[in-house]
Amino acid sequence: MTTDLAQPATLPVLSHWIDGRPAEIPPDRTGPVYNPATGEVIARVPRGGAAEVDAAVAAAAAAFPAWRDTPLIARSAIFFAYREQLWRHREELAALITRDHGKTFPDALTEVLRGMETVEFACGLPVHLAGMNTPNVATRVDAHTLRQPLGVAAGITPFNFPVMVPMWIYPIAIACGNTFIWKPSSHTPGASQLQAELWRQAGLPAGVFNVVYGGREAVAAICEHPGISAIQFVGSTPVGRYVYETGTRTGKRVGAYTAAKNAMVVLPDADMDLAADSAIAAGYGSAGERCMAQTLVIAVGDAVDRLRPLMEERIGRLRIGPGMEPGMDMGPIYSAEHRESVIRWIDKGEAEGAELVADGRPFVHPTSPDGFFLGVTLFDHVTPEMEIYQEEIFGPVLGIVRAKTYDEALALVNGHKYANGTAIFTTDGGAARRYQLEVDVPMIGINVPIPVPAGYLSFGGAKASTFGDLSMRGEDGIRFFSRQKEVTSRWPEPGRRGALSLVFPGNV
Ligand code: NAD
Repeated sequence: MTTDLAQPATLPVLSHWIDGRPAEIPPDRTGPVYNPATGEVIARVPRGGAAEVDAAVAAAAAAFPAWRDTPLIARSAIFFAYREQLWRHREELAALITRDHGKTFPDALTEVLRGMETVEFACGLPVHLAGMNTPNVATRVDAHTLRQPLGVAAGITPFNFPVMVPMWIYPIAIACGNTFIWKPSSHTPGASQLQAELWRQAGLPAGVFNVVYGGREAVAAICEHPGISAIQFVGSTPVGRYVYETGTRTGKRVGAYTAAKNAMVVLPDADMDLAADSAIAAGYGSAGERCMAQTLVIAVGDAVDRLRPLMEERIGRLRIGPGMEPGMDMGPIYSAEHRESVIRWIDKGEAEGAELVADGRPFVHPTSPDGFFLGVTLFDHVTPEMEIYQEEIFGPVLGIVRAKTYDEALALVNGHKYANGTAIFTTDGGAARRYQLEVDVPMIGINVPIPVPAGYLSFGGAKASTFGDLSMRGEDGIRFFSRQKEVTSRWPEPGRRGALSLVFPGNV
């Protein structure tokens, strides 16, 4: 890591990116962006609304016909170029993430690389967009399938993965031939300008990729806009429900991927060191601000007697500090308000009667006391009646739940209102096999604590963790961002025509 990455130059005042370049913004419509490690304001981000969304839709709609008709191999070449730009700028992107999100630099770098997996998948777009051809569906009648883009698509993304989550959406949308409007989180917009600039350098035509900043007003404008055909949203459940309901009401295709409360089940035969490492990494990595964090550890039988001391020992060794400082395990919480919200959850857990094993509330960083830091918290004896069991906290707070049997643990996981990811830790292949078949959660880890599928596979939850019918990325992503057409064609033999008949055509 170089010194200038450790202290990147001050971020500029951000501008919406419309029609291939930064757009003008009125100076009174901006909000602060913080460095959570210091508490300082480091940039200002525009608060866009209907006018900015209109401008972005106009640019995207104008760019659509030419992009749709661009030969696949030419589109693919731009994706290869974009991938190379991302690789070249990966550390810069990671430093920008750390700067306004707070996660550690190595964590941010992995985020960039994991996001790039989906860009790499999209490079193969000529293969992904191939249709099917079915000859002889009837006499001298053939059928074939076309996959065509929808038009202008949009992505609305959360604060916690400012590079990876958008990269789960826009590469697939653009690869399918759509043009795109991205509405990043106003808390962590720092890396978005560079992504736009790198697309430009990769040769993406103006108007194909646009960025509009803003909050509620911009999101409402996207959901209501008649010129937008599809939206993928990632964020909290109430906002996801709103986006899904508003977007579908106005005729859009919508997928919303929302909150989670993931549980890892630890059986007594598990490798306890692995389980303890995994619980700590999953629960406290990125300050618990990951939708695939395992925040409940369901220990079966006597597993807890060995697991809990191992977890406590590891908690004692965690290093908490600014994400650009080498050797840190965990950075600050992303905002002062969210830090307060996590503290309220810890207060609540205590009031609900969970045993407070480790308390993160008193932590103050010695050299950065104004940063939004919090220590890590561990509760034991968490039970399903407690709100800290039921609700997402999205902070460094882990809860141990004690289950007597495997069946009880499985019933707990299946009874939760959220269903995003889950994991099982065991050395028993039969138990692991049974778990993946019986658990009602779509993303499963077997001795893997954060089972985020590789970027070329699909990603999505169920129940209150997802609204819509398809996952993001992979095969589902291609289906989401394209419309299938079925073409049935007849080529009679020369000189032979069928007789007039009003009978419904049979396939004979
Ligand atoms: P959020 O819902 O507050 O924000 C998401 C997006 O919606 C942002 O772009 C934001 O600007 C916008 N927004 C916020 N409030 C709005 C409102 N009232 N009306 C309209 N738009 C609004 O979510 P967040 O705090 O940025 O992210 C954390 C949440 O995202 C957690 O619940 C987490 O589980 C979830 N998440 C889910 C996944 C997944 O794949 N399921 C992945 C990452 C994060």
